[in-house]
Amino acid sequence: MLKILVINAGSSSLKYQLFDTDTHDVLAKGICERIGIDGKVKHSVPGHDTYVEEVEMKNHGDATRIVIRLLTEGDTAVLSSLSEIDAIGHRVLHGGSEFTQSVIVDDRVIEAIRKCIPLGPLHNPANLTGILACSEVMKGIPQVAVFDTAFHQTMPEKAYLYALPYKYYEKHGVRRYGFHGTSHRYVSQKAAEFVGRPIEELKIIVCHLGNGSSISAVKYGKCIDTSMGLTPLEGVPMGTRSGSIDPAILEYVMNAEGISISEMTEILNKQSGVLGISGVSSDFRDLDEAKKQGNRLAAVALDCFSYAVKKYIGAYAAAMGGLDVLVFTAGIGENNPDVRRDVTEGLEFLGVRVDLDKNYSKHNDISAEGATVRTLVIPTNEELAIAMDTRDLVEKLVKH
Ligand code: AMP
Repeated sequence: MLKILVINAGSSSLKYQLFDTDTHDVLAKGICERIGIDGKVKHSVPGHDTYVEEVEMKNHGDATRIVIRLLTEGDTAVLSSLSEIDAIGHRVLHGGSEFTQSVIVDDRVIEAIRKCIPLGPLHNPANLTGILACSEVMKGIPQVAVFDTAFHQTMPEKAYLYALPYKYYEKHGVRRYGFHGTSHRYVSQKAAEFVGRPIEELKIIVCHLGNGSSISAVKYGKCIDTSMGLTPLEGVPMGTRSGSIDPAILEYVMNAEGISISEMTEILNKQSGVLGISGVSSDFRDLDEAKKQGNRLAAVALDCFSYAVKKYIGAYAAAMGGLDVLVFTAGIGENNPDVRRDVTEGLEFLGVRVDLDKNYSKHNDISAEGATVRTLVIPTNEELAIAMDTRDLVEKLVKH
């Protein structure tokens, strides 16, 4: 039995989950928050109350030491010692064009992640800090980096190139990379298993709809296009992100409002999307509630979102020359049947027909009888996918 610790390090937080990769069970999970500020950790073990402790954490090294203490000592322990952890899997946001799959962390990998910092300035430094903290505190335990961008590296040039002077691609790596790749890969594989056909025969569209949303076209097991771009700002409108807009809007609004480029970027990332349109919330549950109360702009924001997702489905069905399986996943995709109904309404011409009773009653297969496209709801599990990649790579390492 391999025990794998999955780490998702943010700038002031560190989330962790300990998996038993035979049973896929989560043995313990938690989050260290406010690292470098003061510090709070929440640790939970299935079947027990969540343990909360306020404890100073100066850096990610301190946070990692606390995670080890909670996993191995006292009432919160699920391991007798640190040596029971077989490997550590890290979520890393940006792997640039360098990484097409998950890799065992070594000095070269650390350097390559560092080189990708300009592409993921908010996340990559934090992800790297998590890796370095584990190298220091858990010396000798193999580490694996799993990239959000890796699955999308199979996109052809025509899908990843922007129509800008080519030198920006050559000099600065300006191209579509795509994100949520671990989720798109995991969910498309699960979809193929669900319909009982090899993924190599299927044309699948995955709609990962959450606070951040992305759509991908997975043809015969390989991603051929995806809605997010150089950064996770492109694509459909999101909780607070604008998604794709006319790039000329930036200069126009900056001049009209007298704001700087960094303020504009902040607005596009934090004050736009469904929050920006509605002025109500970035959370779809709040928007549903506001719509019920008669808030017009909440309803408009929801419409803009579903319409944008629908257009990507049309585009990707065209890009793949057909569609066999349409999948909804992530917070909204899994839990918001109204969005699924609105997105799929009118797609009968593609063969998408949803059974509304099934859609509203927690079925995995929500396709109507006789529909030529299977429409599925499949829960994503990026942490488990990271744990399984880590296990596979570490097992290979042991065999060699
Ligand atoms: P995520 O980023 O995948 O966690 O998704 C967050 C979005 O999913 C929010 O807009 C929530 O409204 C929505 N969401 C998450 N869980 C639920 C739930 N149980 N019921 C309805 N919506 C949910």
